[in-house]
Amino acid sequence: MTYVSCWRDGSETGLPSGKAVCVGRNYAEHAKELNNPIPSSPILFIKPKTALVNLEQAIVIPDGYGACHHEAEIAVLISQRIKNNTPQEVQKKIGGYGVGLDLTLRDLQSELKEKGHPWEVAKSFDGACPLSGFVKGSDIESPESLGVILQVNDIEKQKGNVTQMLYPVNDLIAYMSRFFTLEPGDIVMTGTPAGVAALNNGDRLRLRLCHQGSAVFAVSTVVA
Ligand code: ZN
Repeated sequence: MTYVSCWRDGSETGLPSGKAVCVGRNYAEHAKELNNPIPSSPILFIKPKTALVNLEQAIVIPDGYGACHHEAEIAVLISQRIKNNTPQEVQKKIGGYGVGLDLTLRDLQSELKEKGHPWEVAKSFDGACPLSGFVKGSDIESPESLGVILQVNDIEKQKGNVTQMLYPVNDLIAYMSRFFTLEPGDIVMTGTPAGVAALNNGDRLRLRLCHQGSAVFAVSTVVA
């Protein structure tokens, strides 16, 4: 099924389905938990549109590749073309904010990293980017206070806030746009806070986008 981006009320955004541009290690605590050094510039990678799925669908873990980790992240929906823009220009081209998972086949990724090979397949497989509905940018008063919380089976596993990011959202998107033109409908994944762990069959996930202390919304999903 082709992914169609939606607003939080379930109505379609009308934007085409595109790629997700993602960043590795945008929270220092997460870099530390995987024994990775803090990067001197953002580590970017892309998930193709075939990786995008609705978060409220059951997550399917690819069979036979070891642990599949959850990485809960704030997701940004792009509404206008961004190429070589300043962070100030970027803000006007954000359609909305949501939450998503950067699913990662961690064992496979580690194996590929050890060999010095690209780890594309560990992060960009079909269904590797489940996304929530988006809250319109115009409804978010202060994007600089957004946060994400992930509960797995009612236990809080990940909690992060944009203030903890090594590269703030608009700076990050401006940097991304030097290499990759962002088009309407594209998604930006802004990196995961500490607490990543393997998913298991039957896990219930609840993700929240937090805004000024209160949760804007929550979504649940079941790992099948
Ligand atoms: Zn990630």
